[in-house]
Amino acid sequence: MPAPGTFGHTFYIETFGCQMNVHDSEKVAGVLMGRGLEAVEDPEQADIILYNTCSIREKAAQKVFSRLGAFKKKHGDKLIGVLGCVAQQEGEKFFERAPQVGLVCGSASYSRLPELLDQLKAGKRRVTGLDLDTDECFETEITRRDNPFRAYLTIIEGCDKACSYCVVPTTRGPERSRPADRILEECRRLVDGGYSEIQLLGQTVNSWRDSSPLRLSFAGLLARVAKIPGLKRVRFTTSHPRDFTPEIIEAIDTYPALCDQIHLPVQCGSDAVLKRMRRTYTRDEYLEKIDWIRAARREMSISTDIIVGFCGETEDDFEQTLSLLDRVEYDQVFSFKYSPRPKTAAGDWADDVPDVEKGRRLTELQERQRQIQIRRNQALIGREFEVLVEGYQPRLGQAVGRTTSNRVVNFAGEAEWVGRYLEVRVTAAGPNSLVGERIGPRGDGGAGYGC
Ligand code: SAM
Ligand code: SF4
Repeated sequence: MPAPGTFGHTFYIETFGCQMNVHDSEKVAGVLMGRGLEAVEDPEQADIILYNTCSIREKAAQKVFSRLGAFKKKHGDKLIGVLGCVAQQEGEKFFERAPQVGLVCGSASYSRLPELLDQLKAGKRRVTGLDLDTDECFETEITRRDNPFRAYLTIIEGCDKACSYCVVPTTRGPERSRPADRILEECRRLVDGGYSEIQLLGQTVNSWRDSSPLRLSFAGLLARVAKIPGLKRVRFTTSHPRDFTPEIIEAIDTYPALCDQIHLPVQCGSDAVLKRMRRTYTRDEYLEKIDWIRAARREMSISTDIIVGFCGETEDDFEQTLSLLDRVEYDQVFSFKYSPRPKTAAGDWADDVPDVEKGRRLTELQERQRQIQIRRNQALIGREFEVLVEGYQPRLGQAVGRTTSNRVVNFAGEAEWVGRYLEVRVTAAGPNSLVGERIGPRGDGGAGYGC
């Protein structure tokens, strides 16, 4: 740790975990830059090193401790700060476990960061921001946005659900929704700044409630955002099945800017396990919502999250999860082995599915899903899609584009195409991506053959 108050003006942030963490880091960086600090890409060059942590699973939480171990040996002269969920979870105990740390701050206290930095500048050796009892959202004047095409925008922070396995309610605090008028204003600013895609974020994004005079529903908010001139794509994640309504599908059907992609985590296919997970819906209730989505006029891609090996999960429960995969035919599944977490209800229950068995179930589930994705993607061969070109691989001479349904398409291209919307035809398909060829311009930003 540097002598009190003596750290310099460059900072580096490393982010672990979900998109919300990525966006929190963008906002934290904006706050620091607004105070004259300079962001650097190399931790070696930084006076302040910040780790924005994730504690959703044990392995994710451990990552920060291995980083801190490495820095202890190499960099005694830097101010090290720990942000995010592990910071909130460990609190002051962090200083015992990692004495080189000077700042510990959970996400519900980020608006206090300037004040905490002032305290460090004034000579305090250790400061914390750990209050969860807040009704504030983290509003920033400046946000450093790291993705040049997709702007993230958090519309609801925290979580009021109480899934028995999950740390989020204790690490991110209660739900706080940003008012619609501020969200719409920020969306317009982003479009003026050149963004054509916005992703609205929240742990339970569709539980958003409007406190502005507009009193919009979540579907109403989607409609208003989608109507902003110049905005081509609007995504939102993560939807909780309990608050998923037909109006959301109606909005997607009505406004082409709303992407035809829905992430609707189910977690498990067995009612007995869903009940113990305290997910607040049954398999049939979940499937009813899937049927609404499948009945939409637009063809939508659906993804989900699944946990295998939760407390008491039997072979029969697991079979029901597999049969749910067959029934829904997801386009993408994020699957995890259950990891017991502190301060959760299930943390006190027997973690009684052995790790090797969790591993076997995970492998079986992923293989079943891989076959489904191969089938679904191959059915797209010959179809034409508009993609936003997000990258270029010079070694392969390939452009990397994304469809509104969030599928990745690789196709022969040029570096200058990055950032454009182009039309491609699918020529081949694997489980995780498509191969295509460019067929010509469409919409704004597309260029003709040979450009
Ligand atoms: N709010 C979202 C929802 O309710 O669906 C999920 C947010 S969480 C950050 C992302 C995913 O991590 C969850 O959907 C779940 O599948 C997984 N997850 C959460 N807690 C877990 C645990 N203790 N062990 C394994 N996976 C977990
Ligand atoms: Fe965690 Fe459940 Fe909240 Fe999602 S809804 S963040 S899984 S408590």
